[in-house]
Amino acid sequence: MSLERLTVVVAAFNEAEALPLLHPRIVAALAQAGGIDGRVLYVDDGSSDGTWAVLQGIAAGDARVALLRLSRNFGKEAALTAGLDHVVEGAALILDADGQDPPELIPEFVAKWREGYDDVHGTRVQREGEGWLKRATAHGFYRVIGRLSKTPIPPDTGDFRLLSPRALAALRQLRERHRFMKGLFGWVGFNSVAIPYAREPRSAGRSKFGLWKLWNFALEGITSFSTAPLRAATYLGLVTALVAFAYAVWIVLKSLLWGDAVAGWPTMMAVILFLGGVQLIALGLIGEYLGRLYEESKQRPLYLVDSWQPAAGVSSGRT
Ligand code: UDP
Ligand code: MG
Repeated sequence: MSLERLTVVVAAFNEAEALPLLHPRIVAALAQAGGIDGRVLYVDDGSSDGTWAVLQGIAAGDARVALLRLSRNFGKEAALTAGLDHVVEGAALILDADGQDPPELIPEFVAKWREGYDDVHGTRVQREGEGWLKRATAHGFYRVIGRLSKTPIPPDTGDFRLLSPRALAALRQLRERHRFMKGLFGWVGFNSVAIPYAREPRSAGRSKFGLWKLWNFALEGITSFSTAPLRAATYLGLVTALVAFAYAVWIVLKSLLWGDAVAGWPTMMAVILFLGGVQLIALGLIGEYLGRLYEESKQRPLYLVDSWQPAAGVSSGRT
């Protein structure tokens, strides 16, 4: 029986400093896992800092390394999609380039895969080297999306995971443009299991996800996997309309009973402004979904490949 193939997929955006530290750790972990045909696929997500040169160096010294370079920076989700699209045989394991997802856990992931799990994901029990604000907002986000989304999305779980060949094939069928990977993995289903781990601080370089980017990412996740906000807007409108109606009845009764002493300008302004605000919020919400629908309808490719360098010693076009 030939060895089972496992490709470690790493998306890298300006990780020239981190990659040379990461590669030996992956190699050692793959060797330790034993009994597998281990490969590594690095995706350069349009880096501008010499990451590509560093990757070429790594590939030159290791025949199991394949490289993919995107035509520009498409973002982590697209880069991972590109990477996973190029794994046509065996399982795939996704890892951050900065060493925050310890490659040393690979043997544990592989063991779970051998037990028959299709989706083995790392769940962070501890996050080091990340500010309280990031930790608190991340915590809040997973709770909110967990409640809003009908698709199960395991909390505190990033992209660090192993996908069996059939889970990978299933994931490849999901071609939506707004890719909230955590949700897509959950949507696929099959047998999944969590491996708890402590998230280490970055080995080098800086995080690419500032608060604003994370906020947008959260919006992406919620709007991609839940229409609850639209429903909330409906209820908000309903409640406001009911209150407004009751108030209108009260005003009419009041002027019928006691006459209209005019005045009332502050009340009127308050009501107009309030209703205007509620309408704008609801419109904005609809706009969010409409915008995504528009993006989806354009049917653009998810990424463009600049160059593809299969692992040496592999005859087929892909890894
Ligand atoms: N990344 C990427 N494209 C981007 C941004 C990030 O491929 O546009 C990669 C990055 O190189 C790293 C991973 O995504 O391997 C996670 O990024 P980062 O460590 O900056 O995020 P954090 O861990 O701070 O959430
Ligand atoms: Mg990181």
